[in-house]
Amino acid sequence: MSEKQARFYESVQQNFDKAAVHTSHPKGLLDQIKACNAIYKMNFPVKIGKGYEVIEAYRVQHSHHRLPTKGGIRFSHLVNQEEVMALATLMTYKCAIVDVPFGGAKGGVCVSPRKYSEEQLEKITRRYTVELVRKNFIGPGTDVPAPDYGTGPREMAWILDTYQQMNQGEIDSAACVTGKPVNQNGIRGRTEATGRGVYYATREFCNLEKEMSALKLSTGIEGKTMVIQGLGNVGSYTGLISINEGGAKVVAVSEIEGTIHNPDGIDIKKLLKYRKTKKSILGFPGTKTLKERKDWVKIPCDILVPAALESQIHKGNAKSVKAKIIVEAANGPITAAAEAILLKKGVVILPDMYANAGGVTVSYFEWLKNLSHMRFGRMEKRFDSNTYSNFVNLIERLTAKTISKRERDILTKGADEVDLVRSGLEDTMVNSFHQIREVYNRKKKINDYRTAAFVLAVDKIASDYMSLGVFP
Ligand code: NAD
Repeated sequence: MSEKQARFYESVQQNFDKAAVHTSHPKGLLDQIKACNAIYKMNFPVKIGKGYEVIEAYRVQHSHHRLPTKGGIRFSHLVNQEEVMALATLMTYKCAIVDVPFGGAKGGVCVSPRKYSEEQLEKITRRYTVELVRKNFIGPGTDVPAPDYGTGPREMAWILDTYQQMNQGEIDSAACVTGKPVNQNGIRGRTEATGRGVYYATREFCNLEKEMSALKLSTGIEGKTMVIQGLGNVGSYTGLISINEGGAKVVAVSEIEGTIHNPDGIDIKKLLKYRKTKKSILGFPGTKTLKERKDWVKIPCDILVPAALESQIHKGNAKSVKAKIIVEAANGPITAAAEAILLKKGVVILPDMYANAGGVTVSYFEWLKNLSHMRFGRMEKRFDSNTYSNFVNLIERLTAKTISKRERDILTKGADEVDLVRSGLEDTMVNSFHQIREVYNRKKKINDYRTAAFVLAVDKIASDYMSLGVFP
């Protein structure tokens, strides 16, 4: 195991131990919560070009205290067993924090998507799904994958189709995977969900007057400078929504090809278009390219958003961080050793298991939608709209005044699926933030949000185990 791989899984376990001392649960129960319940490692052949390649892949179910288990599938040449175990473990705590009734799981396929054609990726994804079906590691009530690094709606559609071919007539089969395209039983608002959740998490913290004044910052996201590492699904939506809805200023973006900087702000929408045509963020008008890509951590800013991979902020670079707040959009971007340095410097860290939980929250909504076989809002949208119209008509009649068509449209709108998804996501992120804050404020010896989030999660999972009668 390389130092980097070990750092991630060990960091997660060290963070658990650090939090466990603030709970009063018996050792046996804590050991059960910590352990990975099932690990499936597979090697399967796929015909690539004229020959065969043996693909290494994993699915880890961290906790069966609630079923189904849930967690994304990662496609990356860096995938290894410890990484998937760490990610599955985080999923359990994440689900508990946002009150999503699942155990945690994660999948990983050791391939670099850039190296394969679409057709080859489809073959790999379908074969991986066959392996999962054969070992009962996928199913609406068993284990429900979703997108992660290197995968998206396209891969989820292939998984769904393969599962359905092997489970003909299973009425709830659409719920075997989430993050599907909307026309393949997906849900509106899932693609942006993780980034949107990161925005809500950041906004909630930035609205705290005492904490912001301790950091010598004004309250609110408006005008705050932000640096983002990784302009994929999570990083791009975090940037877009923080600019459009919060008024933040993204001053630097770091990607595989390098890091660009503009203290006056970077238009993320235009940058995404630019990257699509140029296949690189470098040379984007108005920006300067840093000599070293890795210097993204050194750029002065209010909010640093690592949204790429784990262990990006480590013992070696933590001291150079200039940001006052780090929001962990990626899973495990800060090693335990780096965290100790950052906390000493007074940096506030909003932990992954809360900050990026928007994806699993909306995946839960998608799963519920699939099981109910109906789009959210279908029954009530028109009824609500008619009721609001009657109110507006009455007010106009009583006041003898007429409102504009625009105002009428806003006041009489019934909620669409995407409105309900966003509202459910916002409510979840706000509630969970205040649950973590409550632990942080109540337990005087806890002085970081990760430990508070861990304690919250462990208490909820312990209570589940005890109500199952497993640990009376
Ligand atoms: P993605 O594949 O869409 O994007 C990741 C981006 O990071 C890519 O553009 C890649 O080029 C870039 N990148 C990789 N290494 C880099 C480096 N060293 N420096 C700069 N950029 C680099 O993946 P994603 O879905 O956005 O996931 C990103 C992170 O967020 C992962 O840690 C993932 O586990 C986590 N996450 C994702 C979701 C989700 O819904 N997709 C949910 C929760 C957490």
